[in-house]
Amino acid sequence: MDPTRNILSENLQHVEQRIAAACRRVGRNRSEVTLIGVTKMVSAEVAQILFELGVLDLGENRPQELWRKAEQLPPEVHWHLIGHLQRNKIDRTLPLVQAIHSVDSLRLLEALENVGPTKVFLEFNCSGEASKQGFSETDLVGLVAALPTLEQVRVIGLMTMAAPADDPNEARPTFALLRGLCDRLRAEVGAKHPLTGLSMGMSGDFEVAVEEGATHIRLGTVLFEGLPSPGEKEG
Ligand SMILES: *Cc1c(COP(=O)(O)O)cnc(C)c1O
Repeated sequence: MDPTRNILSENLQHVEQRIAAACRRVGRNRSEVTLIGVTKMVSAEVAQILFELGVLDLGENRPQELWRKAEQLPPEVHWHLIGHLQRNKIDRTLPLVQAIHSVDSLRLLEALENVGPTKVFLEFNCSGEASKQGFSETDLVGLVAALPTLEQVRVIGLMTMAAPADDPNEARPTFALLRGLCDRLRAEVGAKHPLTGLSMGMSGDFEVAVEEGATHIRLGTVLFEGLPSPGEKEG
């Protein structure tokens, strides 16, 4: 068997066991959690193998890279844009993606509204790091006013990234805060937007995210570790 496929298959099995265990700890069903394979660090060929192993949802953080891989992979892939979207890249990105996880301003929401039907997550900066993009709690009032005016854009949930930490439990307050914000928005915005999704959890903290209610976890490193680095040839 191809060594790349072997390694990916083993990594995936291990990740699946960890997701399942986290679900069991809090009485959730595995089917409530979508695993998004974040392929930004690997080639289209490796992304294709992950898809063939059953990971149907793939994520990229740069629009151009998503366009490139979407061209090379089967049309059945559900693509997720998880990084910043510049407004001049909206037209080409929207038709390719299942959801945009990184809507970080009202300006971008309005620009998306003018292009076509889209599902989005609103990115929140819950960790308080100044370097991170996203809405904060003080933006809730503006969002409660703006969301009911949207006809094309459906806000399916919120997204966040926890601060890097050695102990995954340090991410728990960040994830709990995102869930609380989502509950508040859903209560105030009404039925037009589902607001039931929580896109949170990466390689270092996905089990804690699942325990805190994540519906979409975004995993790169933990799926691809152990692969020969690009450019290296097998002996
Ligand atoms: C790269 C990236 C991930 C995956 O990170 P890993 O730690 O490699 O699992 C998740 N979310 C976003 C927004 C990313 O850019």
